[in-house]
Amino acid sequence: MLKSKFLYNCALQIRKMSSNASCSRLTGRVAVITASTDGIGLAIARRLAREGAKVVVSSRRATNVEKAVNDLKQEGLNVTGVVCHVAKAEDRKKLFAESEKLGGLDILVSNAAVNPEIGGVLDASESAWDKIFDVNLKASYLLAKEALPQLRKSKFGRIVFISTISAYVPLDVLGVYSVSKTALLGLTKAAANQLAPENITVNCVAPGVIKTRFATTLTESDETRKQVLDKIPLGRLGVPENISGVVALLVSDDGSYITGETIVAAGGMTSHL
Ligand code: NAP
Repeated sequence: MLKSKFLYNCALQIRKMSSNASCSRLTGRVAVITASTDGIGLAIARRLAREGAKVVVSSRRATNVEKAVNDLKQEGLNVTGVVCHVAKAEDRKKLFAESEKLGGLDILVSNAAVNPEIGGVLDASESAWDKIFDVNLKASYLLAKEALPQLRKSKFGRIVFISTISAYVPLDVLGVYSVSKTALLGLTKAAANQLAPENITVNCVAPGVIKTRFATTLTESDETRKQVLDKIPLGRLGVPENISGVVALLVSDDGSYITGETIVAAGGMTSHL
């Protein structure tokens, strides 16, 4: 009982520290964050905007975009919103048209992912495989490619992909999803090598189990949550702010000498390929 109260207080403390983040490392920079109307993406949008960035918030549903933009504006943050399903070329075009209007892109965070089927990798349907790879991997590659003309004009070009701890140790229930996220680790290395001569950094963050809607299959029932917690040495689930702070570091000047890396933020879960 005492231990769970202690761990709960740790999570609250992290939230509070993150919401008090008051540095202005990103003043004047323009950031596009995909899938940023909820969960980890929304926390990244909030954190980068709090650090001074002008942020383009986006996701598939107009009502979600409107709500996130209104909420963040009410907090006094400089944000605009665009509807963007990352697998749709015309939507991605609108995203970058918006960053151009704001003065040109400095930071791309590719955060969108889907997992339409639960189960082992070889049990998945071909259509699930295609959808997962289209959104989780191909859209990340296309976003990075399409962001380049603007990033090349920036003095602080940054790309961050969001992978997962299951990219290292695939979870049985997240078969194809895990494989698509392992491929993102490769995309990070390859793109970082290619863009290093242009001073554009490319990094990745691999979150552990973070309390969001996406993770409800792993956190909803007491039994599954216990099985998950048994694999986390820190003994607690993560919160979105555990990830947004890492992204803020990578896209700021403090992270300017880091490229081609994946930072695992997973409470100590195993992370060997
Ligand atoms: P979440 O809380 O469920 O939020 C999902 C967000 O994605 C929503 O804003 C949703 O808005 C948007 N979205 C979904 N499909 C999209 C698409 N095709 N194009 C654009 N936006 C889309 O999810 P999350 O947990 O924050 O996950 C964010 C990222 O973290 C994902 O890449 C995920 O793989 C990764 N991750 C999560 C965990 C975890 O435990 N939560 C762990 C490791 C990695 P709309 O419905 O309006 O589109």
